[in-house]
Amino acid sequence: MSSDKILIVEDEKEIAELVRDYLVREGYQVIISPDGEQGLQDYRRHAPDMVILDIMLPRVDGMELCRMIRNESNIPILMLSAKHSEVDKILSLGLGADDYMTKPFSPGELVARIKAQLRRYTLLSTPPGNQGMLKYGELEIDSKGYNVFLAGKKVDLSAKEFEILNLLAANPQQVFTREQIFDRVWGFNEFGDINTVTVHIRKIREKVEPEPARPRFIKTVWGVGYKFDGG
Ligand code: CA
Repeated sequence: MSSDKILIVEDEKEIAELVRDYLVREGYQVIISPDGEQGLQDYRRHAPDMVILDIMLPRVDGMELCRMIRNESNIPILMLSAKHSEVDKILSLGLGADDYMTKPFSPGELVARIKAQLRRYTLLSTPPGNQGMLKYGELEIDSKGYNVFLAGKKVDLSAKEFEILNLLAANPQQVFTREQIFDRVWGFNEFGDINTVTVHIRKIREKVEPEPARPRFIKTVWGVGYKFDGG
């Protein structure tokens, strides 16, 4: 049984309680907030492991709340939307949501997605065999704090850039295909554009590689994908 804490921010009481019942049955602790303002307060007070966020909310809407939570943390956020058009908006705004579902959804499917996100997050934030600190030459990755340092200077990476770098660096010499990286970092496939991975890798290299054109850390394995060279 898991004791992970999940915050549901949803003004439709029936939906919130239905989801809560499913999650409680799976052993999760659940907090329900009926509006965006309360949601932010509950987020800060209870420090949940994951947030389920409805888009249309009274007071502070779900997109705004998503942005505010993202400023403070990288925990998984799954958004609920009533319209397909909102999904496009979530994606185009780059709010940092990890997954989304359109209403009406199957609670069983939602629980499966929540589990997948929590598993992914735990995997990314706690590489085995160290205290969450990876060090390769001048490159240091603080997996728990989501910080990267190059020669002691903090490197500004987006959440997804960080997750890709962390995934590769936690598994040095292991080759990942772009599809594998996409699945592990984004965690959902429907709207996936594999080229996103290429774009992110380029940005990471620009930020952490002394010579981005001749990468020392993130090596391209032609025709396959990428691997992290730790040696
Ligand atoms: Ca709503």
